Amino acid sequence: MALVPFDDRDGVIWYDGVMVPWRDAKLHVLSHGLHYASGVFEGERAYSGNIFKLRAHTDRLIASARILGFEIPYTADEIDAACNAVVAANGFTDAYVRPIAWRGAEQLSVSAQQTKIHLAIATWAWPNLFGDNRMKGVRLDIAHWKRPHPETAPTASKAAGLYMIGTLAKHAAEAAGFEDALMLDWRGHVAEGTGANAFFVFDGEIHTAVPDCFLNGITRRTVMSIARRHQMKVVERTIMPEEMPRASEVFLAGTAAEVTPVRQIGPHHFTPGPITETLLRDYEGLVRMAPAQVEALAPI
Ligand code: PMP
Repeated sequence: MALVPFDDRDGVIWYDGVMVPWRDAKLHVLSHGLHYASGVFEGERAYSGNIFKLRAHTDRLIASARILGFEIPYTADEIDAACNAVVAANGFTDAYVRPIAWRGAEQLSVSAQQTKIHLAIATWAWPNLFGDNRMKGVRLDIAHWKRPHPETAPTASKAAGLYMIGTLAKHAAEAAGFEDALMLDWRGHVAEGTGANAFFVFDGEIHTAVPDCFLNGITRRTVMSIARRHQMKVVERTIMPEEMPRASEVFLAGTAAEVTPVRQIGPHHFTPGPITETLLRDYEGLVRMAPAQVEALAPI
């Protein structure tokens, strides 16, 4: 299927407080965000007309910006309202939502204290990150690129610059015939995917890496809560790559990926199984519940 370019579509984009026609949502080539990656973004999904865990995404957007040293000039309530408004204005009930905040073009040097902060929010139809391949399980290569030490990069921020590593890792995996990459961290521990967290089933228990140098995803936390509600044991610990072949099931969890079974990591093969299936189905049910019902389910 031919890609429809992202700058040539119908619809509207919320841009610095106003809805602008999609094709007019432009910025100057000397924007600081483009040259120095001074940008942070979110990835959200609307299901049945509601953006799942919207406030958690908005809070993370604001927190990501603060980690990069800037303040988004809108309140969380205003950002939530803008996200909902742009989904409605484009006539979607189910869609991906992408808020992005960045430093403008007032100053173009490493120092950027004088830049104005911009915020744009776009939304588009994006059924699943892995499309038709999702249910049979995706194939991941083990990336050479590593998740950096938290003192080397702002790893707790959903900072645009960190995705440079993800794109390098994913392109290498695709060139080798895989769909995505599994990333280790700078210590050689198992970390995550390029755009989702990773889970492993060992002896019927669900294990996942400690998120000390990558995002503690909203989906990750949701899936852990669902698993505990099913009385499944969830363990956060250091996972070494040598352990991976012992896993009976592997899956990814992220807003775009949702719950996606994994059938291969490098030379190791896995069969999507009942634990992944249960969590996938429950996640699909949860995201379509009314926001008040979701809120009423305290995280466990
Ligand atoms: N890790 C990375 C690198 C990501 O891009 C994402 C997607 N935001 C995640 C993990 C999962 O985060 P979430 O579940 O909050 O979408």
